[in-house]
Amino acid sequence: MCTTRIDKSTALKLQKVDHPAIPIEVQDEWQHIITLMAKLLRVPSGLIMRLEEEFLLVYICSETANNPYNVGDKEIWFGSGLYCETVIRSGERLFIANALEDDRWKNNPDVGRNMINYLGFPISWPNGDPFGTICVLDNKTHHYTDIEEELMVRFKKIIETNLSLIERTSQLEDLAKELECLANRDSLTNAYTRRAFYDFSKKELGRAKRQKHTTSVLMIDLDYFKRLNDQFGHHIGDDALREFGFVVENMKRAEDIFGRVGGEEFIIFLPETKHEGAMQFAERLRSKIAMLNIPADNGTVSFTVSIGVSECEYSDSGLQQIIDEADSALYASKESGRDQVSLYRNR
Ligand code: GH3
Ligand code: MG
Ligand code: MG
Repeated sequence: MCTTRIDKSTALKLQKVDHPAIPIEVQDEWQHIITLMAKLLRVPSGLIMRLEEEFLLVYICSETANNPYNVGDKEIWFGSGLYCETVIRSGERLFIANALEDDRWKNNPDVGRNMINYLGFPISWPNGDPFGTICVLDNKTHHYTDIEEELMVRFKKIIETNLSLIERTSQLEDLAKELECLANRDSLTNAYTRRAFYDFSKKELGRAKRQKHTTSVLMIDLDYFKRLNDQFGHHIGDDALREFGFVVENMKRAEDIFGRVGGEEFIIFLPETKHEGAMQFAERLRSKIAMLNIPADNGTVSFTVSIGVSECEYSDSGLQQIIDEADSALYASKESGRDQVSLYRNR
C-alpha cells in the first residue's frame, strides 16, 4: 500500500506549477458521475478530493443519503493520516476493507466520521502533478466487484482526460494572447503599432461620439533624435525609446491608447479627456522625460520631447482630423524651440 516515502520538501514541490481553473460545466459533469458512482456501488459517500496548496479538500461530493462529507471540507494533507493522503503519496490504488481491524488505519480522521471502508485511486494532471483522488467510502465492511473497480478506473481516466484538455485549452489561450500582443505591439516601446493604434482609437472615438464625450490626442516627437543616435550610437537611441515607452506606460491610464506611428513619433489617444486635462498630462510627460538620464558609455544621455495637443468634441469629425490638428500643434512646439507642449487652437 503506502510504499513510497516522501519527505516534507518533496510534498511542497508537488504543488509548484499553476494549473488552470476547472470550468463549471466540467465540475457539473463530475458531480453527476460521482453521485451515480456512489449510487451504483451502494455507498454513502463518493468523492473527488483535490490537493490545493497544503490542503486536501472535498472538491466534488456525491448527493447521496447519509454522506458525512461536504464540499469544501478540508485537512492539511501532509501527515493527516487520511486514506487519500496515502493514495496521493503512493500514486496507487488503496483498498481498506475495515479500518477498525487494522492498526495503521483505525485512528485516521475518516474513521472519526465513521467511514471505516475505503476504495480510492489517484488523479493526476498531465505533467504528473497530483490533482487528488476519486474514492468511495462506507460505514461498514464492503468488497467491490472487478466491474465496480473497473468503473471507478474509467471515471478516473475520464477526469484525467478532462484535465488534459483543460490544460491544453488554457495553453492555447495563452498562446493566442501572446500572438495578439506580438502582432499589435511594438517590441521596443510596448506601444501599439500604427495599425492597432488606428483600429482601437477609431472604435474609441465612435463610442465617445455616441456617448457625447470629449476626447484628446497627444502627438509626440523626440527632439534632435538623429543627433542623439549619431553622437551616442543607435543602441543608446534604442534605450532612450525604450525608456520613453516605459514612462508613458506608467503615466497613462489603462484606457489611454498609446501608439508608435513613426520611428520616434508617438500618439496617445485620451478618451473622456478635455484639452485642459490633456495639457496637464502632456506637461507632466514632457518634464518627466527631460529629467531622464540614460546610461551611456561615458556618463549619461538626456533628451527632450515636443508635444502637440488637440481636442475633439463629440460633434467633430474623424480621427485623422484630430491627429492632423495635434500634428500641427506639434509643429508649433518644434518651431518655438522644442521641449514644449502646444495646444491646437482653431475654434
Ligand atoms: P526633430 O527635433 O526635428 O524631431 O529632429 P530629429 O533628429 O528627431 O528628427 P529626424 O526626423 O531628422 O530624425 C529622426 C531620427 O530618429 C532618425 C532615425 O534614425 C531615428 N530613429 C527612428 N527610429 C529609430 C529607432 O527605432 N531606434 C533608433 N535608435 N533611432 C531611431
Ligand atoms: Mg524627432
Ligand atoms: Mg520625427
